[in-house]
Amino acid sequence: MRFMPIQSILDGKYEDKSVAIRGWVYRKREGKQTIFLVVRDSTGVIQCTVKADSPAWSEAEKITIESSLTIEGTVKKDQRAPGGYEVSAEKLSVIGLADVFPISKDKSEEFLRDIRHLWLRSRRMNLVMKVRADVLEFTREFFKDQGFVEVSPPMFISAAVEGGSTLFGLKYFDQNLYLTQSSQLYLEILIYSLEKVYCIAPSFRAEKSRTIRHLTEYWHIEGEWPFADMNDLMQFEEELLAHVCKRAAEKCGKEFEELGADTSKVASVETPFPKITYTEAVERLKAKGIERKWGEDFGYDDEKALADEFGKPFFVYDYPTAIKAFYCKTYRNHPEVAMSADMLVPRIGEISTGGAREDDKDVLIKRIREMGLSEKDYDWYLDLRRYGTVPHVGFGMGLERLLTWMLDLENIIDSIPFPRTIRRFYP
Ligand code: ATP
Ligand code: MG
Repeated sequence: MRFMPIQSILDGKYEDKSVAIRGWVYRKREGKQTIFLVVRDSTGVIQCTVKADSPAWSEAEKITIESSLTIEGTVKKDQRAPGGYEVSAEKLSVIGLADVFPISKDKSEEFLRDIRHLWLRSRRMNLVMKVRADVLEFTREFFKDQGFVEVSPPMFISAAVEGGSTLFGLKYFDQNLYLTQSSQLYLEILIYSLEKVYCIAPSFRAEKSRTIRHLTEYWHIEGEWPFADMNDLMQFEEELLAHVCKRAAEKCGKEFEELGADTSKVASVETPFPKITYTEAVERLKAKGIERKWGEDFGYDDEKALADEFGKPFFVYDYPTAIKAFYCKTYRNHPEVAMSADMLVPRIGEISTGGAREDDKDVLIKRIREMGLSEKDYDWYLDLRRYGTVPHVGFGMGLERLLTWMLDLENIIDSIPFPRTIRRFYP
């Protein structure tokens, strides 16, 4: 038998025709003369009606929420049915009868997160995961159009990328290794062969704080390329975001709408983005009554205050060297300022950090020493400056932060199927 995707029926392709569908029972309502089953498959949900005189009645009576089934019947246009069409069922076969399903209407967010393996079947999670897949596709599309090559960096690493405080250590046979916090240093290796490279890979951070924007395992969109400066970097990042947003507005409108997200926000993203220096940001904060000494890092509240003012994506650049990682390139005439830029968005704050990488071996060694790191650990990284060093830039954007912003999600946890946080690692 040929089964039709539910969405194709909702698209009106089978009005008054016989169809067969298969999926799971999403909702069930029983009347004396009619049983209403809302059936879902990966593509959509549709209402099916079973009449008391139908041969499907006895099966419909005993079927439970989340049972898997097949239904054969006739499509009817019906304004009252959600989606505008329903299937009048003539035959119903139960494939797997479900026990009493633990998820019902008034469950708390907390409960739904504990029971993630079943909650992932919800329409809401189904839609978020589809948009997530599309955003990955649009991201790859953009990199590819720009001549970038996708590469596969390692997750087991022997030296920190972003500093010790959020590093996960692990036993690796009889050695101690770490889970990577960023693939940047490995992308830097590959630019000497492929020039423009990117990856979309997990990064791991031992984040102890519980916020709406931190996971311990997240997917990191990272790009790195040579012969480029800060202007090239910010332009690339803003065009990437604009591309992803434009494509999402074109292709994911239905999903956005059903999720209650505002497509006009993504549709209206335009380049160039506003850009302010760190110093200007300190002044803007001061004007709002938030005192930050030059040299202090911004926290979530500072970023949010700045972002609320812009109401759209923007950049803060030229940060103090002291709060940046050892690999950040500094201005030769102002070594206290690093060539680093963050992209910020309303409500979430930072969604990417990028910058120029130090390409002078001696300056880099000095920075490694100043930061109390071991030169030996970074010997291969220094080789990149020994053999044909080149000015280069790169950035990292958190996929989940991007989705949380795009889809107006309350918490980053809902942008990834299996969130990992300090307390969550099951299932
Ligand atoms: P924050 O200060 O917000 O913790 P960060 O500056 O430490 O972030 P970076 O090292 O700049 O983060 O990482 C690059 C990008 O990766 C960030 O801009 C963000 O989008 C994403 N990211 C970083 N840490 C996390 C995390 N714990 N969970 C989800 N995304 C993250
Ligand atoms: Mg950052």
